[in-house]
Amino acid sequence: KKNLIVFGTRPEAIKMAPLVNQFLADERFETKVCVTGQHREMLDQVLTFFNIIPDFDLSLMKPNQNLYHLTGEVISGLKPILESFQPDYVYVHGDTTTTMAASIAGFYAGAKVCHVEAGLRTNNMLSPFPEEMNRQVAGRVATYHFAPTLKSQENLLKENISKDHILVTGNTVIDALLESANRVEGLENEDVVELSSKIDFEKRIILVTGHRRENHGQGFVNICAALKEIAVQNPDVEIVYPVHLNPNVLKPVNELLGSISNIHLIKPLSYPSFVWLMNHSYLIITDSGGVQEEAPSLGKPVLVMRDTTERPEAVEAGTVILVGTNTNKIIKETQELLDNSNKYNSMSSLHNPYGDGKACQKIIEFISNL
Ligand code: UDP
Repeated sequence: KKNLIVFGTRPEAIKMAPLVNQFLADERFETKVCVTGQHREMLDQVLTFFNIIPDFDLSLMKPNQNLYHLTGEVISGLKPILESFQPDYVYVHGDTTTTMAASIAGFYAGAKVCHVEAGLRTNNMLSPFPEEMNRQVAGRVATYHFAPTLKSQENLLKENISKDHILVTGNTVIDALLESANRVEGLENEDVVELSSKIDFEKRIILVTGHRRENHGQGFVNICAALKEIAVQNPDVEIVYPVHLNPNVLKPVNELLGSISNIHLIKPLSYPSFVWLMNHSYLIITDSGGVQEEAPSLGKPVLVMRDTTERPEAVEAGTVILVGTNTNKIIKETQELLDNSNKYNSMSSLHNPYGDGKACQKIIEFISNL
């Protein structure tokens, strides 16, 4: 059986890396990897950590790239690869432009498209934009759906997808996290040395990440206003913010938060350094999907800067609180977790609803039994 695994951004790479490595180690399959390069630097950091050398690299990232260009280039860039390799299965992950376009290309080539992290839905096509559309298109086009939770399976069943074509696996992000945990403990790389020299780890660390397109503009202005207030009101806290390289994020964040002594704006970290930093944090404020799935495994409460979520499991389990991009709400919930140790302790000891780290194994067994 021939597999082509396609991904293009940092989060897809992290979540596909364990699947790639387990497929490559399995002689029942011939597996090739194609990266689109939708992200470049942030993608390459992940490939290096997981020792993945792509067979094909479309290198599509351009300054000021846009969705029209990316979508077209992914589809036409995959054509010759699909035609020469002729995979039986094309694997896509999640909800990026790469996911959507690669699923269409795989479909055109007559391969069976396998959607990993399938069935997440807000059912509001505009939020998150364009991710909800991306994941719905991939869901229409895919033959096999690897749903992280029962709830995501339920969403797919509601769309009349046959139960035989869905497997509930848990999220592969936990596979990646558990696989990396021993390599990250006691990490002493350049990032860690630099962070330790700038940041007082005796203080409580609030880790922040944010990149979502729907928060660009006013959303980031509100987020920055909240972070500034939290920093000023709590000099005993250090805010550490690895800033996403997207200029729509980089520019406002640098302008609004550049000069506050207990806010540390740093470059995006490599995956192991980021896991190390999550582990050393008190709480995490983010709009990231992956981070809210990882953090409960490390016992870290998460405030999510989104109004809607396709990850209701975390909110129901209580590991995540949705705060939107409302400045006052972000400040209030953060302050509460800083001041109320009962609330903090109960939140940080909850069970992670996203699985046990065996998702890839389940996917591979499913495919081998087809
Ligand atoms: N991450 C990282 N370095 C950073 C910030 C995040 O390696 O500086 C990792 C994080 O552990 C998670 C993934 O990147 O696995 C999340 O990526 P992102 O927030 O960009 O995308 P999303 O999860 O929202 O799709």
